[in-house]
Amino acid sequence: MASVELQHIDKSYGSFQAIGNLNLSIEDGSFTVFVGPSGCGKSTLLRMIAGLEKITAGELQIDGRRMNDADPIERGVAMVFQNYALYPHMTVEQNIGFSLRMAGMGKAEIERNVAAAATTLQIEPLMKRKPAQLSGGQRQRVAIGRAIVRNPAVFLFDEPLSNLDAELRVSMRVEIAKLHRRIGATMIYVTHDQTEAMTLADKIVVMRAGKIEQIGTPDTLYADPDNLFVAGFIGSPRMNFLDGTLGADGLVRLECGAVLRPVTLHAAGDIPIKLGIRPEHFVGRDDAGGAIDLKVDVVENLGGTRFIYGTANSGQPVIVEDRSETARRPGDTVTAGFPASRALLFGADGQRIR
Ligand code: ATP
Repeated sequence: MASVELQHIDKSYGSFQAIGNLNLSIEDGSFTVFVGPSGCGKSTLLRMIAGLEKITAGELQIDGRRMNDADPIERGVAMVFQNYALYPHMTVEQNIGFSLRMAGMGKAEIERNVAAAATTLQIEPLMKRKPAQLSGGQRQRVAIGRAIVRNPAVFLFDEPLSNLDAELRVSMRVEIAKLHRRIGATMIYVTHDQTEAMTLADKIVVMRAGKIEQIGTPDTLYADPDNLFVAGFIGSPRMNFLDGTLGADGLVRLECGAVLRPVTLHAAGDIPIKLGIRPEHFVGRDDAGGAIDLKVDVVENLGGTRFIYGTANSGQPVIVEDRSETARRPGDTVTAGFPASRALLFGADGQRIR
């Protein structure tokens, strides 16, 4: 196990700065997930930790030792790639044992280590097959097996499940969570998938344009985002943002007509704001702190729950989770209430007003 420390990290490709002055402490044995829009620098950061990409400036420490220029083996890290990166001409057994052979380990010891990894990943019956004879999920297990045998202090995962179908993703996600619990190694994981991030992470690092927007537990990022970007990025369907003003009297007046007094607010002014409210936080009209009338555009029925995609009378789109008995239809008018305690306010600079 090992901690990972990134201090004032810069990464440039020519004149383009992909990562700028980034600081991050990753605790020993933790599960950290990097999320952010395409191109924000998640993979670049992971590859710099792996030693696959040179660090332009700053310091990388693994377990307290400077590792900027160490080769990947010396760092005690192993990476699992999205495309598995298996050797097609080798059997599963040979693929898993490859790095150990390269390191000059004895045959009996390699066999012991490979067998242990196969047991952990439940792929013993596949050991004599070649990658082309495996399903996507089985290939991904072999790729993880290749990382496990090296007994790394830090596992790096670069979107490892994104080539799998939905059902397999769920079961592999659970497998990875179990693996983390069992071996206790530090794990750093890049994904586009909200659910993977929310369910696997001890800490989520939300990135945008080469910088960290917020670091926190999944619960903190969901309930207490620092800014509009994080609030909109975490949660699915995404948070609604409604335009309005915060008055000197401490009341919020929304363009769609709702007026409410946010309960946790200490600021007042006469300023434009956006009020954030998640689709799942709408309630019946009676317990509402605010209410919005909206016209139903589309109803998305997910079986257990329904989402209304509608338009407020201010013209703004609003998504509401609908738990009522009877489904609404396009064209219906609905009054959606929300408790003031769930409303988050953001200023014109996108930062949270608390
Ligand atoms: P995605 O989610 O799409 O994989 P990402 O967040 O992992 O994106 P990176 O792959 O880390 O993003 O890329 C960060 C930025 O650096 C992007 O703007 C990308 O175009 C740029 N970049 C990455 N590799 C290179 C390279 N070898 N040369 C020039 N620019 C690069």
